[in-house]
Amino acid sequence: MSFNGTAAYQLKRAIKLLNLNDETAKALLEPRRSLEVTFSVRMDDGSVRVFKGYRVQHTDVMGPAKGGIRFHPNVDLSEVKALATLMSIKCSVIGLPYGGGKGGVTVNTKELSEGELERLSRGYVRAIAQFVSSDKDIPAPDMYTNAQIMAWMVDEFSTLKQCNDFGFITGKPLSIGGSVGRNAATARGGFFVTRAACEKEGISLQKARIAVHGFGNVGGNAARIFAAEGSKVVAIADSKTAIYDAQGIDVELAHEIKAKTGTLEDYPKGQKMAPEELFQCDCDILIPASLEEVLTKDNAHLVKAKLIAELANGPTTPEADKILAEKGVTILPDILTNAGGVTVSYFEWIQNRMGYYWTAEEVEEKLEKLMYKAYEDIYKFKQENNCPDYRLAAFAIATERIVQAMRARGWI
Ligand code: GLU
Repeated sequence: MSFNGTAAYQLKRAIKLLNLNDETAKALLEPRRSLEVTFSVRMDDGSVRVFKGYRVQHTDVMGPAKGGIRFHPNVDLSEVKALATLMSIKCSVIGLPYGGGKGGVTVNTKELSEGELERLSRGYVRAIAQFVSSDKDIPAPDMYTNAQIMAWMVDEFSTLKQCNDFGFITGKPLSIGGSVGRNAATARGGFFVTRAACEKEGISLQKARIAVHGFGNVGGNAARIFAAEGSKVVAIADSKTAIYDAQGIDVELAHEIKAKTGTLEDYPKGQKMAPEELFQCDCDILIPASLEEVLTKDNAHLVKAKLIAELANGPTTPEADKILAEKGVTILPDILTNAGGVTVSYFEWIQNRMGYYWTAEEVEEKLEKLMYKAYEDIYKFKQENNCPDYRLAAFAIATERIVQAMRARGWI
């Protein structure tokens, strides 16, 4: 099954549970708008390279589309469609006044200089400018895009529109309308959800051993937050290497080494493994925080964790879901667990529109409230409807809200 097929499969489970008719299913399964662009970027050596980019708006029935921009060699229209669908569900799970969007460029940023990356970012914005705005579709960072890239993009967009429109994109630097707390928001939100679930499942977070796959913004911050809150981070991995240390990883040291050398390979302690070996390590909570479809039928049976907190988008295939359920592993699904990022993006957008900025405490308190409420809603729905898993419960709640909005607007 393709990744887009997986997103559709999850949505179809909810459609079945909610007993929705075929026309409604069609309106939910197909994105409302998809844009494919081709654009040129001048390289440092004077040559020109042509790139493919995408922006998909899965729905805008509850407000503008919202979702990140991914720069990655695997980006294609099908992946962006799947990610946009997940964004619709994610926004609806939290109750944000948004639909789902996603964008991307097929590129390996590791091959680009800083100047080339800037020209690529600006070129992409020029190519999609007609399609996006603070009222239509609001991009943000995703894999291999960051605050600096958002800054170039908002600058390019403002130049095109001849006015500062900071609300057009979120995840910006603080100096140009970013929100405090946005950087660590995905990880922080994931922590709140995991803590709530641990209370319900009788798992002690203080005693829990954590393994984190992925050491970018999300995984790196997750390791930091869980360690600071008293859990023991026993394993971390980036795309090149994994480290296991039953005594606990020195997360700050790992950050220093990653910042200096770009990899975790020089981390001096513990035992080194291939990145994918992390999934089978001895731990209580496993946090996939890298790419989609990393937990599959081939490795799910090896998982030792009791709880999986999905901070990546779509890390678990449906086959792996089944195997893990049979093993009694609880999965906190991406559409809830990693929604902290888009939630603080929403706060950023509100602050941009008000021109009034909140403190770190205000952001954190509001984030905690929304994440906690979303978890409680899903838990309650799961219990009341005898749902086999959190994922189905989350999809069902979110889909029901989207359908209500579609009905109200006469779309179905
Ligand atoms: N890219 C992030 C996600 O997948 C954040 C999106 C946003 O902030 O709009 O949830």
